[in-house]
Amino acid sequence: MWFRRDLRADDNAALYHALKNCASVVCVFVFDTEILDGLPRVDRRVEFIRESLVDLDAQLQKLSGHQRPILFVRHGVAAQEIPQMAAQLGVQTVYTNHDYESSAILRDTAVRGTLANAGISFHTFKDHVIFERDEVLTQSSTPYTVFTPYKNAWLKKCNDFYLSSYPVERYASSIYIPKEGEYAVIPTLAAINFEVTNLSSLKIPTGSAGAHSLFSEFFERLDNYHATRDFPAIKGPSYLGVHLRFGTVSIRKLCAVAHQRVIQGSEGAKVWLSELIWRDFYFSILHHFPRVEKQSFKPLYDTIRWEHGKQAKALFAAWSEGRTGYPLVDAAMHQINQTGYMHNRLRMVVASFLTKDLGIDWRWGERYFAQHLNDFDLAANNGGWQWAASSGCDAQPYFRIFNPVSQSEKFDAQGKFIRRYLPQLAKLPTAALHAPWLASALELQMAGISLGKDYPERIVIHESARIATLARYAVVKKLA
Ligand code: FAD
Repeated sequence: MWFRRDLRADDNAALYHALKNCASVVCVFVFDTEILDGLPRVDRRVEFIRESLVDLDAQLQKLSGHQRPILFVRHGVAAQEIPQMAAQLGVQTVYTNHDYESSAILRDTAVRGTLANAGISFHTFKDHVIFERDEVLTQSSTPYTVFTPYKNAWLKKCNDFYLSSYPVERYASSIYIPKEGEYAVIPTLAAINFEVTNLSSLKIPTGSAGAHSLFSEFFERLDNYHATRDFPAIKGPSYLGVHLRFGTVSIRKLCAVAHQRVIQGSEGAKVWLSELIWRDFYFSILHHFPRVEKQSFKPLYDTIRWEHGKQAKALFAAWSEGRTGYPLVDAAMHQINQTGYMHNRLRMVVASFLTKDLGIDWRWGERYFAQHLNDFDLAANNGGWQWAASSGCDAQPYFRIFNPVSQSEKFDAQGKFIRRYLPQLAKLPTAALHAPWLASALELQMAGISLGKDYPERIVIHESARIATLARYAVVKKLA
């Protein structure tokens, strides 16, 4: 059983099938150097995985009733390690769960081929989503490209069969227990050439135990999700993104609970379930339109001329470092840089700001998020960026341009979030906090702020940027 983005023993499709069908199942994880070599040496995701493997091993020990390491952890090129290990162990079949990204599909195709040459089969399963590939299609058997009808079809098809858990524990006796001398402990971060991050000081809980505690806490506020989800200073969302990304929680279990609460009339659960369906939707878009990894979903949008050159690079640096002079945007960028998380409302605000206030290609922002988000997921990240840039399927129209000041006044009215991440502005009166350039000289003086020194002047004027953006996007209308 090859674990990848499914780091849990509970309700794991491939693990279940492996245990059910085989007399003896070896559990393996590979720290894949093909992926790791492209990352900075300090990366919260790698630490999250490492800690979650410790938890996974504990789950496997508990399931098997043996108190010794169960999980084999390798460090190397997964596409080579897995076939080599399979051959050494003389296994008949390798089990794993589907991964929908193009690089993973290429890797899995290579692994399948190498295994086949050695007479070993490769069995893969759906685990990461409720519906995959062609499971939800329109009546004319084409993929949905608009969310609401997709959601309606998803809800119509969804039933207990799709939401029920795999009873892994029933076949736990098939877990292979390594013999003395055969097993090794899970490598430290240093052993795989990474450094410790601020993950534990941020108190980001890891592994299935962490996901469970986050979800129990979130369940208490689930019914209010619709009312609280848009306000970054409030603990509204679940913070389960990173757990869904690495599979330390089962999507079936989350959807089953949400679905049950919807039936009981919970408005919050209805909206939250809808977010989980967005997640499936973007996986479906990536599957049916893999070109979105590089191109706009709507090809016309690739005729837009984005800013480029030195000036664009300077604007991008100011955006990434939270130096735009727009407090909500800057506070949001400080949040992602310090914690690896950014609230959904702010992801929309900063993505709109980058593409529509600074005129910078959404792919630059997409890449930045990919490097910094703990919950980075190609399908959702690409979908979110293309939504904000209007180039995506069911995206917001190009002429809808968020005003960063009114977004701030609406969603952080008391300035609580801004003050948390920009303490230098803490003493400004709330009215001036959303747009410090409008503060009076006295207000700035009383707050101890000199604009341009303690906090940047705004790098663009939104009203002018808006006009420039409408002109930039006009090409889309002209060519349509
Ligand atoms: P909750 O609000 O509790 O939602 C629960 C789960 O539903 C999330 O964890 C996520 O798995 C899913 N979800 C929620 N909203 C969306 C959405 N719009 N699209 C797809 N799935 C969703 N989400 C990611 O998981 N990874 C990303 O890399 C990512 N990048 C984004 C980039 C941009 C520009 C935008 C606008 C959104 C992005 N999102 C991404 C979607 C969303 O912002 C995050 O899923 C959410 O903020 C994660 O926090 P949470 O777990 O507390 O979410």
